[in-house]
Amino acid sequence: MLTLEGRTAVITGAARGQGAETARLFARLGARVVLGDIRDDLGETVAAEIGDAALYTPLDVTDESRWAAAVDIALDAFGGLDILVNNAGIFRSMPLRDESPEAFESTLRINLVGPFLGIRAVREPMIRAGGGSIVNISSIAGLTGIARTGGYGASKWGLRGLTKVAALELGEYGIRVNSVHPGIIDTPMVEGIAPPAGPGNHPGVALRRTGLPQDVAGLVAFLASDASAYLTGAEIAVDGGSTAGRAPAVTPTA
Ligand code: NAD
Repeated sequence: MLTLEGRTAVITGAARGQGAETARLFARLGARVVLGDIRDDLGETVAAEIGDAALYTPLDVTDESRWAAAVDIALDAFGGLDILVNNAGIFRSMPLRDESPEAFESTLRINLVGPFLGIRAVREPMIRAGGGSIVNISSIAGLTGIARTGGYGASKWGLRGLTKVAALELGEYGIRVNSVHPGIIDTPMVEGIAPPAGPGNHPGVALRRTGLPQDVAGLVAFLASDASAYLTGAEIAVDGGSTAGRAPAVTPTA
């Protein structure tokens, strides 16, 4: 059932990291993909690697006019729009006392207003198509409080809430809306902050390793596909068990 054959997706923040990996997996599963980002050179490269099933378009998620252009590209070039992955985001880490109102607001603008504009942009085409799937990439910082993530945590909790509202409002049109909450995933966003990928490198989580972009992409593909046809308004952590509780420091022998 895990196929995206005949589907068209818009993925934001697709020039690198989880967004690029999700675009690659979607294409392997049969989808056509519009990749949006502000890193144009990287985005063009990823789209070219994927081939005919992919197109890159400059898409600053805070710019409503660019959203309209991305939707038009999906409709004109690929003949539809069935999936939106609101993946673009920025991460800032600092204590509240050091976070300027401008920094706080700009994080909210990219991580929360961006997905809001995306949902608005795809609403009509998805209704016309008889349904769709919207996947919002939040974070474990949107499931629990994490110190030094004031603006980031607020944006990710906000996205989790926006997901529920959109699921309730769009369900009658067959549009499903779910949120994904990655733990620490080895991408450029956390380079130098997170333990690099590798078995046993992250003792604080149940699976004892940092996540990989493909760990997230697999879940996003499931949520985008008909394999999750009765799933909406849900929040799913993909975090190696880090929000399940505290991993034991030493593996018990019995
Ligand atoms: P990344 O930094 O590698 O990729 C993010 C992409 O978003 C970049 O290509 C960047 O250019 C793009 N972007 C930034 N601002 C944008 C804007 N205004 N418009 C369009 N694109 C923009 O990071 P990633 O780890 O792949 O992050 C993807 C998503 O996953 C983000 O929403 C992030 O908050 C979330 N997340 C990441 C982790 C992690 O540990 N890596 C953990 C939890 C959640």
